[in-house]
Amino acid sequence: MSTTAQNMETERELTDGFHLVIDALKLNGIETVYGVPGIPVTDLGRKAQAAGMRVISFRHEQNAGNAAAIAGFLNRRPGICLTVSAPGFLNGLTALANATTNCFPMILISGSSEREVVDLQQGDYEEMDQLAIAKPLCKAAFRVLHAQDIGIGVARAIRAAVSGRPGGVYLDLPAKLFSQVMDAEAGAKSLVKVIDPAPAQIPAPAAVKRALAVLKGAKRPLIILGKGAAYAQADDQIRAFVEKTGIPFLQMSMAKGLLPDTHPQSAGAARSTVLKDSDVVMLIGARLNWLLSHGKGKTWGEPGSKKFIQVDIEPREMDSNVGIVAPVVGDIGSCVSALLDNMDAGWPTAPSEWVNAVNAKREENVAKMASRLMKNSSPMDFHSALGALRTIIKERPDAILVNEGANTLDLARGVIDMYQPRKRLDVGTWGVMGVGMGFAVAAAVETGKPVLAVEGDSAFGFCGMEVETICRYNLPVCIVVFNNNGIYRGTDVNPSGGSDPATTAFVRDARYDKLVEAFGGAGFHVTTPDELSRAVNKAMDSGRPALINAVIDPAAGSESGNISKLNPQSALKKKQERN
Ligand code: ADP
Ligand code: MG
Repeated sequence: MSTTAQNMETERELTDGFHLVIDALKLNGIETVYGVPGIPVTDLGRKAQAAGMRVISFRHEQNAGNAAAIAGFLNRRPGICLTVSAPGFLNGLTALANATTNCFPMILISGSSEREVVDLQQGDYEEMDQLAIAKPLCKAAFRVLHAQDIGIGVARAIRAAVSGRPGGVYLDLPAKLFSQVMDAEAGAKSLVKVIDPAPAQIPAPAAVKRALAVLKGAKRPLIILGKGAAYAQADDQIRAFVEKTGIPFLQMSMAKGLLPDTHPQSAGAARSTVLKDSDVVMLIGARLNWLLSHGKGKTWGEPGSKKFIQVDIEPREMDSNVGIVAPVVGDIGSCVSALLDNMDAGWPTAPSEWVNAVNAKREENVAKMASRLMKNSSPMDFHSALGALRTIIKERPDAILVNEGANTLDLARGVIDMYQPRKRLDVGTWGVMGVGMGFAVAAAVETGKPVLAVEGDSAFGFCGMEVETICRYNLPVCIVVFNNNGIYRGTDVNPSGGSDPATTAFVRDARYDKLVEAFGGAGFHVTTPDELSRAVNKAMDSGRPALINAVIDPAAGSESGNISKLNPQSALKKKQERN
């Protein structure tokens, strides 16, 4: 190269792979990255922070991935998780698969080793064909090899994550890409701002009419709202539709609060009755999977006694478990608006005989539960502890409740009423344990609202080290560990009589509160519902990290919570127990 050419080269403004990735994300409104630094993405995190992005560094990729996934659910924009190659990538993959299963938009961005070495299997540092491994576990997977393709790669990842049924996307960025240099102006031009990333999907008019005709003919109608309805952020239309029909409704776990659980049409406390006795069921953003007993069996009453209407963005969801007589395919905002527009002024409200029967059942069940929640016992059982937390959420309805565990989850879902949309974040479609701290971090970071994380002691163990992350970023997260000394309960003994503890038992009387103190947060140790209330209020008033070790009677839990039928047990053992 001549000296003049060299001078021109140095004067030309240059950019590189690092900057192009950051610019592409920022151009698309992505301001936050969750991840764990390391080779080859350490500098990507640093440069992203320098460029004004919020970069939240975790202690383990799975928790960073869960944070990204729930950020996607809360924002309708993909949450970003950044990991190192091979092991870091694999750690993030569980969260990516979980996001896809739950229809949460997220993008897992992992650095990777060089293609040439990986493909010849020559044994690179952290060698792994990450793209091939990610593919079956997510909605889409892409790899970018050239700096000039970064813009397109990021655009494709965003569109794949949020359009249609949302889900997880993998973006593979080999180490060499980050240091590739190109002309800054050409680089800027290569970036793509994604226009209308999740286009409206308008339902067919005939499908809307068909659904309304079925609904009109119902004697005992029921509406089920799922987390797809919460995700859609069509809160006003959904409320208008439900109220105009006067139909009793159930809200799936993460849909709770879309309408207040205390709404007069809420049939949450009469769940078994409405599932069994209804004749027409309208599903809005809820799947007939295991969480709804696949739409059949004893839960659903007499075989053939139901007609299902389903509103969903994914056409292939229809007829997945039972025949759907009125499929309405489109995004929930558009579908519910179309339903409302096609209901004439004299639209009949739900038959009063049915509504009265549902209300009577609800009152009866609410009264039954009330006395269990009021007890100020020590040690606490799940109900008395949850009774205290129920009041906290009633008084702080804009707080976000994160919830996981077995009994801690099942019982909290029923006991703690929610009042606002997207305030309850839990184990979702897989019932996965360990999402709590990742969800709590993202909930606080994305919304700025206080977070109350109600955790079984076992569930907490999967992600507990992230209390350091919560303290480091000084997030307004109050963690309550329901400590009953073990998985399901803490009273099991080693059947062999040996000195090892039982497989489901933990260290007795552990002090989880000391964990948060190690990092400068506030620890509390409580044994009664009154103490629990006082501690939670104090922690939440402070707006600072806190962990409350709530002592629960070790004998209080039941095996696998309310899904014990899914946990196979030895038939011989059952027979012996009966004898
Ligand atoms: P739940 O567990 O609360 O019942 P699911 O995750 O089973 O909820 O179901 C959510 C459903 O919502 C999925 O079938 C998904 O395709 C659908 N969905 C997600 N987002 C939208 C949207 N914007 N419009 C319509 N349907 C949606
Ligand atoms: Mg436990």
